[in-house]
Amino acid sequence: MLWLYAIKLADRWELRFSLDWRIDVCHWGARQREGTERSDRFKVVLWYLRVPIDVALQTVERFSVESAMDRWDEGEWTIYGKTLLHTFSDRLKRLNGHAWLKVRVLPNDELLEVASLLQRNRNLEFEINGGTDTSALAASEISEGQFIYRSLMSLLTGKALLESEVRSVVEHNQFVLSDEQLLSLLQQGVLEGHIELTNGVAWSDAFEPRGGLSRWVRNMLATIFSSFVKERQGPIRREESCRRCGSIGEQLRVTHCERCGSECCYTCLGCLQLGRSQTCGLLIIGTRKGARLLIQAADAAVSSHAEESHIAALLERFGLAPAQRDASQLALRYLEKHWQLGKEAKGEFLLWAVTGAGKTEMMYPLVAHALYRGGRVCIATPRRDVVLELKPRIAKAFADVRVVTLYGGSEERWDPGEVTLATTHQLMRFREAFDLVVVDELDAFPFHNNPMLERAARQACAPGGAFVYLSATPPKAMQRAVRRGRLAQAIVPVRYHREPLPVPMRLTMPAVARQIAGGRLHGRLMKVIHQSLERGAQLFIFAARIRHIEGIVRLLRTALPAYIVEGTSAADARRTEKVQKFRSREINLLVTTTILERGVTVPKSDVIILDADDKLFDASSLVQMAGRAGRAKDDPHGLVYFAAPQWTKPQQEAVVQIKRMNRLAKRGGYLRTEGALQNVE
Ligand SMILES: [Zn+2]
Ligand SMILES: [Zn+2]
Repeated sequence: MLWLYAIKLADRWELRFSLDWRIDVCHWGARQREGTERSDRFKVVLWYLRVPIDVALQTVERFSVESAMDRWDEGEWTIYGKTLLHTFSDRLKRLNGHAWLKVRVLPNDELLEVASLLQRNRNLEFEINGGTDTSALAASEISEGQFIYRSLMSLLTGKALLESEVRSVVEHNQFVLSDEQLLSLLQQGVLEGHIELTNGVAWSDAFEPRGGLSRWVRNMLATIFSSFVKERQGPIRREESCRRCGSIGEQLRVTHCERCGSECCYTCLGCLQLGRSQTCGLLIIGTRKGARLLIQAADAAVSSHAEESHIAALLERFGLAPAQRDASQLALRYLEKHWQLGKEAKGEFLLWAVTGAGKTEMMYPLVAHALYRGGRVCIATPRRDVVLELKPRIAKAFADVRVVTLYGGSEERWDPGEVTLATTHQLMRFREAFDLVVVDELDAFPFHNNPMLERAARQACAPGGAFVYLSATPPKAMQRAVRRGRLAQAIVPVRYHREPLPVPMRLTMPAVARQIAGGRLHGRLMKVIHQSLERGAQLFIFAARIRHIEGIVRLLRTALPAYIVEGTSAADARRTEKVQKFRSREINLLVTTTILERGVTVPKSDVIILDADDKLFDASSLVQMAGRAGRAKDDPHGLVYFAAPQWTKPQQEAVVQIKRMNRLAKRGGYLRTEGALQNVE
């Protein structure tokens, strides 16, 4: 709950809200003593009532200056306040009792008196920065309260947290604070510009309501039935949206809320897994003040030379292969140019790296460069297992900075760090926090085509910051943007072992359903399976439908009694265990779905995609599945088959894409051996 007060500042009245009005009185009192505000024109009018944040925000917006305000007494202010708050009066009576609004006018001299009284008040144990320059004091002289205040402000920087989450930050850092003291500190942060307060779910007219009535009809209805407008101003019912995740419509559940007394309080279901974002709940945003990145000296000639040698040293440091190195260099140059421009717009760079190219290593120079510039970095990836896998590698590569790992239930959720490694969902807790956001596998579920996560990533990136997208199969829209010159990119067409990608071969055979129904697998299929097993390879066998897996496994077990065959899918509780066994070569053939199209790598493996003509497979997932083969240096030429009755467009596109990469690799001089060139057209 918040307090309201009117204040005359710089000759103009405004209405403000506060988590703790005493802090505001002290703050303005101190400004008065310093002479920042002219005393004869300075006045504060306290409104003694508690309002939920949504009421506070709307009331501040509705406040309008009246000509006689300077001379108003408490009675006139009360009348004005009651009129302004009229639409909320039922709620406010419920929260504040029958005499719900009392007003107190504090002229200048009284304000100073109250302020100094409050300063001495034992309830306010924190040393409010009363005009003294605390930065000049020795560390030991800074009170405990100031220490907590500063730590808390720096912990909240770049975050967008619910009140309950801020309390978790406090607990996690073992700050000894009562709830009331926390609110006081937050209010001090608001007044000093470290924090912005808003609510979790808010009305917004940025979104036009979908379908239904036209604007004209709604306007007409609103003039006839005033109830149609409810508590909103203006004739059009603005649509509610979640300020944290952007959800609208059915993702917001209306409740009769005990806490705020509203019959129309929204809770967001879209981001519920991160805590309850509500109409009457606070969203506390820690703003990032001051310069973000250290930009080189103005002398362009000197700085560009220094820059080049710095970039060269970075590329050297991480021991990249030639193709990785060239792509990283392009990305570094792009970032440097973008940051030098110092514009508000966010930069974007696509790093298109084939499967097995060693994307992680390519990020290192980019991360290092952003850190060198004094920036904050986030590496976002769609899946938690990738976060866990990357963590030790990133921590090792950047041993001198703090690397924080964030995923659902992670212990480090409230820790600060220069490098943040997070699942894309976790980005919803950040606001303008990072100068570099590396989005790994942006085409993978759940990031792809998910406006909520895209928005989260956008919000987490600071103005003037940049995105680097990593993908082996960038979405078509992005490829188009590159062709039209709207998106910068670098391609890494070759794997780290510098051998060409295996080109999928066509295997014509009946649909899997028919083979299962017929009780045996097709001869051509069995022939290529035998070939792989005889050369000692393990086999990924991808099926389009989960329901076919069991049948395929059964037929394979009958046909290959000497080998271990398993099947797994998203529906399988033992998936992790089976994947582990496949990795440790305890399973020879693993029948699975696109669930394993990424992430799982075994050294010597071949790939067969059954029903490759199924409409569930697009070119991207075919390329990803094909990318499971030939990953190891010792077995770089794995075999890949597209097995299906039809030779569809996605299959053709996948083959064209793979061949194109091999051609680019050859042209770039990235391939290791002459022999390897035979596979390249
Ligand atoms: Zn509520
Ligand atoms: Zn939400």
